[in-house]
Amino acid sequence: MTPEMIEKLWERSGGKCECVRAAHNHPGGRCNAELVKEMMDKSDAGGWKVCRLFMTGNENLNAVAIYCNGCYQQLPSVLQKEDRYGA
Ligand SMILES: [Zn+2]
Ligand SMILES: [Zn+2]
Repeated sequence: MTPEMIEKLWERSGGKCECVRAAHNHPGGRCNAELVKEMMDKSDAGGWKVCRLFMTGNENLNAVAIYCNGCYQQLPSVLQKEDRYGA
C-alpha cells in the first residue's frame, strides 16, 4: 500500500468508515463512522485501518476498505493480522 493509494482510499471513503458487513447491522448498510485522517493505525477516537476485503494478486483499491476501530475489532482475528498495513 503506497501513500498515494492510501490517499485515494481516503478520498473515496469521504473520511468515513466504509464497512458494509451485514453482520454488523449498520443502519443504512454502511457504518459511516467519522474518522480522522491523521489517526490511521491509531486506536483512539477517530482511528481507522485499511482492511483487505478479499485476496487478489495485486494491490487493488477495490479489494481494500477503510474501517473504523469498532468494525475492525469485530473482524476475525486471523483477518486482523493478515490485513494489517503498517505505516
Ligand atoms: Zn465502522
Ligand atoms: Zn462494520
